[in-house]
Amino acid sequence: MRSFMEKVFSADDLNRGIFSARSADTNPPYFAVLGKPISHSQSPLMQNAALEEIAKSDVRYKGSRYFAFEVSPEGLSDSLDKFWNKNFAGINLTIPHKEIAAKLLSDMEDGARLARACNTLLRTSDGWKGFNTDGFGLEEAVRSSLGRDFKGSDVVVIGAGGAARGAAFHIASCGCKSLLIANRTQERLDRLVSDLKNSGFECYAASLADCGKLVPENSIVVNATSVGLRDSDSAVLDFSVLPKSTVFFDMPYRKGCETVSVLSARAAGILACSGLPMLAWQGAKSLSIWTGKPMLGELMLKTLNES
Ligand code: NAP
Repeated sequence: MRSFMEKVFSADDLNRGIFSARSADTNPPYFAVLGKPISHSQSPLMQNAALEEIAKSDVRYKGSRYFAFEVSPEGLSDSLDKFWNKNFAGINLTIPHKEIAAKLLSDMEDGARLARACNTLLRTSDGWKGFNTDGFGLEEAVRSSLGRDFKGSDVVVIGAGGAARGAAFHIASCGCKSLLIANRTQERLDRLVSDLKNSGFECYAASLADCGKLVPENSIVVNATSVGLRDSDSAVLDFSVLPKSTVFFDMPYRKGCETVSVLSARAAGILACSGLPMLAWQGAKSLSIWTGKPMLGELMLKTLNES
């Protein structure tokens, strides 16, 4: 039988088995990640390892679990009510729910409200409060894996979807020197750039084709598109035109191998890292929001690297 860590549940399962009779007073906290597709998610693995660590020193978390649920975009609103009624303590949201959730929630912290994207929901007495920990995860990953800080840096973000929005607002809030954003679809690019400007952040837009030539010396380049997830993908940029002083962070990651963009950047002599450390640190921040405990990012990253 597959363990709960590998199993993908549906919202209908909330009326069955281990979820059928739950009360906040008598049961250890439960957590879930909702997405579609979701079977590839590494979050249950690293979050359950961290919950086991927390349970060693806090008995309230003994038996606490983190589950993966496949939820369609149309079903998100009803599902959030169901998870709240079943006393789930926290929820992570992944593709395609981050921007949808921001439209559904009235209670959001500043980062999520500005980015109009939530990846973390905290149970409150009257609903869910939205947070966005992607920007923090990215910042910590860039610092620990590439030795660089957004503050005072020239930064280029490629992409304008949910992940790029979270990243761009966080990078701008960190006090970067300049922010250039490029995306395949002009309309989505224009919306992100105009939202940043309306929030008082200076930034520039470029086409995907042109942005490589516009990268300044010593820049941090972040790929926040899904290019690199599929075997057939090519690198997101022509890295040979970038200054060698550039560092490159690729949000996509692949189990057991590097992404094509990371390999291509390294072949051009550029320091590069793929998205696993970001996954670990955004998850560590989510768990810390839910539990009030210190972040366990290193334990989570070790769990991912050893799986
Ligand atoms: P999303 O909202 O669906 O946005 C997708 C982005 O990728 C858009 O900018 C889209 O451009 C672009 N894109 C897709 N296919 C493309 C192609 N063939 N050529 C050029 N651009 C293309 O997805 P998301 O939530 O932002 O996630 C983006 C990626 O970040 C995913 O791979 C996700 O796994 C990764 N991510 C990683 C972490 C982590 O912890 N490591 C966290 C969050 C997200 P258009 O606007 O032109 O469609």
